[in-house]
Amino acid sequence: MSDNPDVTAHAVIATRTVTDKTARDGRLEIGDRSGAMLGSVNGLAVELKGIVAPARVDRFDCDCRDDHRHFYVESDAFKRLPIGTVVALRFDAGQGRIIVEPRR
Ligand SMILES: [Zn+2]
Repeated sequence: MSDNPDVTAHAVIATRTVTDKTARDGRLEIGDRSGAMLGSVNGLAVELKGIVAPARVDRFDCDCRDDHRHFYVESDAFKRLPIGTVVALRFDAGQGRIIVEPRR
């Protein structure tokens, strides 16, 4: 997993492996800066193989260590990704859309 703290337009904000948990809950974790930024986007959507689906940012206040948060992008579109797929999430700021790019 990797996080890019630089969330400027078209940056890859995270690279994630789809797990069985993703298939169930439709969530992929993203970094906290990306989460804070994407959480303020109205009408956030994801685009996967040309199909656009609604998405939202989930924030989880966690106590696994000191005060911190986990952020996730949640979309039903993620439930259709095969388990084990590596995806890059790229933010298209102009469209308010996260482009999901399978890497293999
Ligand atoms: Zn935690």
